[in-house]
Amino acid sequence: MSAYRDIRNIRGVVVHCTATQNFKPVDAHEIDWWHAKRGFKRSPKICNLFNADLIAFGYHFLIQPDGAILSGRAIWETGAHAKGWNRSTVGIAMVGTDEFTDEALSRLWETVLSLSLILPHKPVPFLCGHRDLPDVHKACPGFDVCRTTPDDVLDYYVPFDAEVHR
Ligand SMILES: [Zn+2]
Repeated sequence: MSAYRDIRNIRGVVVHCTATQNFKPVDAHEIDWWHAKRGFKRSPKICNLFNADLIAFGYHFLIQPDGAILSGRAIWETGAHAKGWNRSTVGIAMVGTDEFTDEALSRLWETVLSLSLILPHKPVPFLCGHRDLPDVHKACPGFDVCRTTPDDVLDYYVPFDAEVHR
């Protein structure tokens, strides 16, 4: 499977959490190490072009408790964050488990809004939490993405319906 992808095939955004201590920042390199141990691997060719210091990191973005955002994989790079959905989605991870600062949440919605501008389908076919995907049995990201999405963001996304994406 190619690590490059055509961004015209991106259909949605999936929100995750890092399942680490709430309100405590986590270094991207630490996550990179965890993902490497899980067997994730970025293509060396792409690494050379984008975030060369991350060799495994599966998400496209990481949002820290203070609202700082880090880029991981490139948008045009297939992610490693949601089995079966990696080619067609952008993965954003919130640092923490189930409690997030206002700063982190506003950065999330800001990022989701910005993504809607560059993603090909208008409105974007879906925005959901990892746990909302069919057959996912985990709490990630620890909050209800669909129900907490601000209205101004929802204007750019089709309301999520798990049945449609099954
Ligand atoms: Zn997840």
